[in-house]
Amino acid sequence: MNTDYTKMYENIFKIMGDLTPLKADCGKLCDGACCKGDELTGMRLFPFEKTELPVKKVGGGVRLVVCESECDRSKRPLACRIFPFFPTVDEKGRVFVEADFRGARLCPLVTHSDEIVFDKRFFKALKKVGKILAKDEVCLEFLREATEEIDTYSAFLK
Ligand code: SF4
Ligand code: SF4
Repeated sequence: MNTDYTKMYENIFKIMGDLTPLKADCGKLCDGACCKGDELTGMRLFPFEKTELPVKKVGGGVRLVVCESECDRSKRPLACRIFPFFPTVDEKGRVFVEADFRGARLCPLVTHSDEIVFDKRFFKALKKVGKILAKDEVCLEFLREATEEIDTYSAFLK
């Protein structure tokens, strides 16, 4: 299948819209911890995702958006829009939405998820996004690798 990645991400960004895990600004819980990176850290771009923000290539085809704590919100990459959740996949390619345990040290939404009232629309949208990504072989592989990482972190924390 030849995926038109530009169109695919336009559609994905439209689906996510302004949705966030909470109806309120979760940055007030943690003083915006996930945006407190520096030039050495960053948010990983999805396969073929384009961005106008500065990008650092770090081996293995990994591209990180390096933002130094601030960005034009409308330009933030998909990883920032969905953090700290992720569309995981099982061996049959079925999509789920799970807490991204890779961010557990940083984000109270992962560690206190039982006490928080989430916006269901966010999860519905993210599942839809996951299904779109899973239709493309390269993106499906990306989801598979991330799912393995998330499972490893999750097992470690339990
Ligand atoms: S670290 Fe978690 S709670 Fe804090 S702003 Fe980021 S997503 Fe929200
Ligand atoms: S790109 Fe923007 S939303 Fe993402 S971590 Fe950086 S400042 Fe935060």
